[in-house]
Amino acid sequence: MTTISTIENAPARGRPPSAGTPALLSTEPDRNCPLCPRLAAFREATRAREPKWFNSPVPPFGDPDGRLLIVGLAPGLQGANRTGRPFTGDFAGDLLYATLIEYGFAKGVYQARPDDGLALVDCRIGNAVHCVPPQNKPLPAEINTCRQFLVATLASMPKLRAIVALGRIAHESTLRALGLRSAAAPFAHGAIHQASNVKLYDSYHCSRYNTNTRVLTPDMFRSVFAKVRADLC
Ligand code: SF4
Repeated sequence: MTTISTIENAPARGRPPSAGTPALLSTEPDRNCPLCPRLAAFREATRAREPKWFNSPVPPFGDPDGRLLIVGLAPGLQGANRTGRPFTGDFAGDLLYATLIEYGFAKGVYQARPDDGLALVDCRIGNAVHCVPPQNKPLPAEINTCRQFLVATLASMPKLRAIVALGRIAHESTLRALGLRSAAAPFAHGAIHQASNVKLYDSYHCSRYNTNTRVLTPDMFRSVFAKVRADLC
């Protein structure tokens, strides 16, 4: 397990940001958040084409008093961007929610709909970027701009003890949201980094591409949550 320390003068969780860092606007962005012009334009175009879809920044799902936060990359076009709940309605949610139920971090039956009654237990799910990006690829500037909302999510979880970062971008943005240097804690599937009183667990993203190519197998994914479960017993 890698141990990392907080950078002096960096914005730690719950503290006001220092000069030069984005100001905290609120816990969640406005549904018409204009801060990333490319993503706002994509959102508007999708609203025009699919007016019944959610088509807005997707808020976290779950209990702010939970001890576990899962950080994904960004809403999928036909997943969270369509349904309004993280990882709901596309392939990635099938493996994620099945695994959360298996390890007691969710209860109910996942049916790929936000009204399926599924409840998270001691757990919350968010994304590094709140708006759907074209081709699932947010630009670095967009990741940096949206981080203020990830910072706010972290600050709103007083009992937070564990974070699972799904993929390298989520890992690096979470480290920066915690006020830590990414060089001290490189991403690797299965790695665990201690950051103050929070453990950061790395996993490859549970995307269809990663599972189809066997970059990530269900057993590899389960092993990450088994470690989290053991630590949050
Ligand atoms: S990605 Fe985040 S910062 Fe950018 S427009 Fe959406 S909500 Fe705003």
